[in-house]
Amino acid sequence: MDIFAQERLKVKLKEEALSLGFSDMRVCTVEDFSAEDAERLKLWIDCGMSAGMFYLARSLETKIRPRKFFAEANSAIVLSANFYRPSRERRIALYAQGADYHDVIGRKLLPLCKILEDAGGRQKCSVDASPLWEKAFAVRAGIGWRGRNTLIIRRDNGPWSFLGLILTSVKLPADSPVENCCASCMKCVEACPTSALGKMGLDANKCVSYLTIEKKGVLSGDEMRMAGDKIFGCDICLRVCPFGVGAPLAEIPEFQSELKISDAPTKDELRLVARGTPMGRRFK
Ligand code: SF4
Ligand code: SF4
Repeated sequence: MDIFAQERLKVKLKEEALSLGFSDMRVCTVEDFSAEDAERLKLWIDCGMSAGMFYLARSLETKIRPRKFFAEANSAIVLSANFYRPSRERRIALYAQGADYHDVIGRKLLPLCKILEDAGGRQKCSVDASPLWEKAFAVRAGIGWRGRNTLIIRRDNGPWSFLGLILTSVKLPADSPVENCCASCMKCVEACPTSALGKMGLDANKCVSYLTIEKKGVLSGDEMRMAGDKIFGCDICLRVCPFGVGAPLAEIPEFQSELKISDAPTKDELRLVARGTPMGRRFK
C-alpha cells in the first residue's frame, strides 16, 4: 500500500472512530519502548510500588517489546473515549458508574478491525486486559500526555478517557506525541489524601483505587483508614486536574449514567448495582 492509500485508510478509520463516539484516534509505531522507559518501569516494580499487581512484573517484557504480543504488528491505533459526566456519587469512581468499558470499547473496536481486515490487515485488540502498555502507546501516538497522577491527560477532557488499542499488520502514517502540559502544576499530588503520588509516580500500596479495586483479601486497619468511605476507586486526583474541569459530557450513551446508591449500602445492594459495570468483578 503506498503512502497515499495509507493516508486514505487512516482518514476512513478516524471518521468511523469518531462516528462510533470515540473522541480521538491516533496512530504510532510498535517499536520497542526505550531502554529508559523500560528501566523506569522495572525500577518502579522492583521498589514495590506496584503492590500486589504481580501480573505487571510478569508482563514487563511484552510491555517493552509489543511485538512479543503480536509479531506481525506494524502500527498501533490508539483510541480514546471520554467518560465524563457530572455525578454526585463520590464513593465510586466515575469510570465504574456506567457499563463495563471492556465490553463497550471492545465492541466498538470491531468495525475498525473490519475496515483493516478489508484492507488486508491482521489485527489484535486490547482494552485494559492485555499485557500491552496502553498508556505508553497513548503517549507515543499523542492521544495525551502522562500526567503527574500517572493518567493520560488530554487538553479537551483532562483525565477522563478510556483507551482502546488495535495492533495491526497494516502500515499507517504515525502521529507525533503532544507536549506534556503539567508544567509546574502539582494539584493532583497535593490533593491525594494518602500521599500516594511521589517522585517515582504512584505508590499503589497507598492508593485508594488500588486498595478498593485491585487488592486481594481483607484490608488492614491502616488500609481501611486510607480507604475511608470509598467503595470502589477514588477520583480525587482526577477531579482536581485543571484540564478536566468543564469536560464535555461523554459521547457514548453507555458512559452517561450516574449511579445512585444508599448512604449505607448492603452487599446485596452493591451486587445489584454492580451488575454490568466494572464493579461486577469485585461484588459478585
Ligand atoms: S486515586 Fe486517590 S489515592 Fe490514588 S493517587 Fe489518586 S488521589 Fe491518591
Ligand atoms: S492535576 Fe496538574 S499535575 Fe496533575 S495531571 Fe493534572 S495538570 Fe498534571
